[in-house]
Amino acid sequence: MMAIVSVLTTDSELGRRMLASPAVAATNPVTIAAVVRDLLATMHSLPAGAGLAAPQIGVPLRIFVARRDPVYDYVLINPELVESSAGGLWAHETCFSVSGSSVRTYRHWWVRVRGTDRRGRRIVVRVHGDLARTFQHEMDHLDGIYIKPEQE
Ligand SMILES: [Zn+2]
Repeated sequence: MMAIVSVLTTDSELGRRMLASPAVAATNPVTIAAVVRDLLATMHSLPAGAGLAAPQIGVPLRIFVARRDPVYDYVLINPELVESSAGGLWAHETCFSVSGSSVRTYRHWWVRVRGTDRRGRRIVVRVHGDLARTFQHEMDHLDGIYIKPEQE
């Protein structure tokens, strides 16, 4: 059963607390499978949803998903940054959990990340450009970090 879950935002006390808390390692395969299903269903329900991290749906586990194209999604469980480009770029970034204007954010041009996929296989993924930006954004969520629009 796939479920579309509402995305927590910093507009609520629960959302602020969840989004500011580092997530813990995901270890239970049954839980991981359920969370991945919900993350994918929810990401696909969002307009132009490029990525989603478990804390955004109220699950404090180190899992995120990212959309490469209409038919392929990355699923990263317990991801770790292995290597990143020396250079990067500034661009405007938005987050489904943060209302308000976009935030100009610096990200590495490419990153290499290791973790496990939804079947528990160890994987190493290297992504660049917009996908690398999404990976860094979602991995920040796992560390309790999110973009903060400046006070207007
Ligand atoms: Zn976000």
